[in-house]
Amino acid sequence: MIIGIDDTDSREGMCTTYLGALLMEELCAFGSPLGEPLLIRLNPTIPYKTRGNAAVALCFESDEPEKIIGHVVSRVSSMSRMECENTNPGVVFIREVDFKEAKPQLSEFFIRAVKDVISIDEARALAESLGLAFRAFKNGRGLIGALAACGAMLNQDWEHTYEFLTYRKDEACGTKRLVDNESLFGADSETYPETWDSVDRFNELVVCVPRSPDPVLYGIRGDTREAVEKAVAMVRSEEIERSCIYRTNQGTDMHLIRAGGVDDILEMHSYMLEGTVVSPAVTIRGGHSIFILEDDAGRTIDCAAFEPTKNFREVVRRLVPGDRVVVYGSVTEDTLNIEKICILSLADVSEERNPACPSCGKRMKSAGSGQGYRCRRCATSAAETELVPLERDLGPGFYEVPPCARRHLAKPLVRFRCPEFPVFPGR
Ligand code: ATP
Repeated sequence: MIIGIDDTDSREGMCTTYLGALLMEELCAFGSPLGEPLLIRLNPTIPYKTRGNAAVALCFESDEPEKIIGHVVSRVSSMSRMECENTNPGVVFIREVDFKEAKPQLSEFFIRAVKDVISIDEARALAESLGLAFRAFKNGRGLIGALAACGAMLNQDWEHTYEFLTYRKDEACGTKRLVDNESLFGADSETYPETWDSVDRFNELVVCVPRSPDPVLYGIRGDTREAVEKAVAMVRSEEIERSCIYRTNQGTDMHLIRAGGVDDILEMHSYMLEGTVVSPAVTIRGGHSIFILEDDAGRTIDCAAFEPTKNFREVVRRLVPGDRVVVYGSVTEDTLNIEKICILSLADVSEERNPACPSCGKRMKSAGSGQGYRCRRCATSAAETELVPLERDLGPGFYEVPPCARRHLAKPLVRFRCPEFPVFPGR
């Protein structure tokens, strides 16, 4: 039986991944786990999300499916933050006999839930038409993520990574997390690039320890189970209550849609869009840097490197009109929030300067308004200024926001293989 769960937490506490980790242990009373638990990140622009728009799916082999359903529903009912208006849990159960029929529709639903916006009615109608057992609490929005997570479990033909999540003891929740920073930097040194985004070296920050009051102590992300296990073994911290290694679509760019042009773009979707810079970046109040990109049809869109993207804004600020780029990111309020950028080619930039004297090579002086330029020493003159090409302080290639600003789904450049362009991973 596949079990999909979503929308159990609030900003004040809980985390759906914690419930998943707990159930991975507790459901062993009724059966045995099949394969790895999944942590699925869905459309990152959804406004109802608590933090990272995650859902989980587990798979168990059991002769007592009713007991599994009963236990999961009871845990979701008692542990979800129902008092929060935005917490609307959903749980879906798929028995093995229904796997085959559900697979095509739920696989597609999963991909759409990562890239697109889905209504509660559509999710409910799909669960009903497939005859699935499900529970939708309150307005039932959690059904969307729960169904999507089941789709991911039914069809695992997608790029995946791993996250090793550790959880705090109940009595510690809400207090300062005790994780030794030095050990995190050490674990990163030993295991990067097989693990990534544990720390942000440039900004001297620890990234893998959350600040919210949920039960997560820290999470280590990596390419393989072995890599995340190796890193975790090196971390010194307060006592952990439990842990769980999830297989996940984090760090895969699964949310991105290739846009043919600005006209293809919809709010609350994420894109790869090629175009030409038509205005240099302007930095507005709050430190956000925004430039205008034009597609080949002459349609434009604002592209932003917001303040939390820190040093990445330097890349954006060095762009000039005529630069050809591909921007990667989500669109909200008519603005593309850049996660990474590929600079395809750079425009020639030149500066107007007084002409050089053909005899001594020094720059000539103005001979007066409208009278051209003159070198007094050599008695040479010229009518026009010279255009001197300038070196650009930027090269073609891929650039990305630093780890402290990374989206869960964004593929870190350290995972990129691109023979055509240099890749500059943020670290
Ligand atoms: P949690 O840890 O509880 O999962 P979260 O940050 O992941 O927290 P949720 O609390 O799950 O966010 O809230 C996200 C809500 O948005 C869920 O109800 C989920 O079903 C719904 N949702 C997810 N993806 C989509 C989508 N593509 N379209 C519409 N709704 C979605």
